[in-house]
Amino acid sequence: MSTDLLLGTFGDLSKVQHQIETTLNNNCATTKYEDIAETAKEVEKEEIRAAKNTEQDEKPKEEPVQSLHTFKKGERAKMLADGYTTEKWLLDRFSTIFGAFLMCLWGFHIASRFDIFDVFGILMSIVMGMLVADFMSGMVHWGADTWGSVDLPVIGKAFIRPFREHHVDPTAMTRHDVYETNGDNLLICFPVIFWYIYKSYTFSAEQLQQDYRFEIFSYVLGIFVILTNQIHKWSHMYYGLPAWVEFMQDYHIILPKKHHRIHHVSPHETYFCITTGWLNYPLEKIGFFRSLEWMIEIVTGVPPRFDDQKWAGKKMN
Ligand SMILES: [Zn+2]
Ligand SMILES: [Zn+2]
Repeated sequence: MSTDLLLGTFGDLSKVQHQIETTLNNNCATTKYEDIAETAKEVEKEEIRAAKNTEQDEKPKEEPVQSLHTFKKGERAKMLADGYTTEKWLLDRFSTIFGAFLMCLWGFHIASRFDIFDVFGILMSIVMGMLVADFMSGMVHWGADTWGSVDLPVIGKAFIRPFREHHVDPTAMTRHDVYETNGDNLLICFPVIFWYIYKSYTFSAEQLQQDYRFEIFSYVLGIFVILTNQIHKWSHMYYGLPAWVEFMQDYHIILPKKHHRIHHVSPHETYFCITTGWLNYPLEKIGFFRSLEWMIEIVTGVPPRFDDQKWAGKKMN
């Protein structure tokens, strides 16, 4: 049937119908209809097949959910270690290098204003800085060990994962380089470091001298917060430690090895302070963390160390 025929007879439907019938008859229309019907069936079958396949593709694949306690310890450790992403790797390098530079700059400003006649005040500021850093390390360590989950968005992988990894494989951190060890803690100190460097350039000499003890306290607090993971890592190293580090461990200036082993007794519920460890005994004596856990469990209904125990291979459900 030609286009001319269709266009020319558009207004007269009966004529078109007649022409179509004639054309079809002349060209063995029955056979063609049969062919077309056959092809249509094939197409339909194909479409149904395709639709079935699409339906199957769209269905979420039902992977059997395997509970963590069914994995071997080495497998669980590897799953946690694999969570160290490339972005985190880059961020650790940036914050460690830039942060170390800023701390040196701030330290230079403090040293340039050193007052030899205020040695007692400066010593007190140093001790207070170390105590507060130890307390903060305990609070953060306790919080991350006891609450939250590796599955939480953003903080789960970046922040909570290393704590779980450390309990499953305590020596893994001794294989972390200087950037992975110190990057996080340097990053969180950036605002304070920026503030004091800004102050050094903009405040008067009298104002700076008035706040000098507090600035020393802040600097020492910063140093020990930054070095917390490094000091913790040293407490897990039995070979290759510099003599001055072993000296500081032996005299309990920083976290000693034997002292920290107490925390590593399952279920990891005490001795959370990991900078100097000075506050571990008094906090344990007054039941500080136990009381906090008791209160939080009453309010939230969530038992302490639920996620940590799963990673430790305990059957939780
Ligand atoms: Zn821990
Ligand atoms: Zn440890």
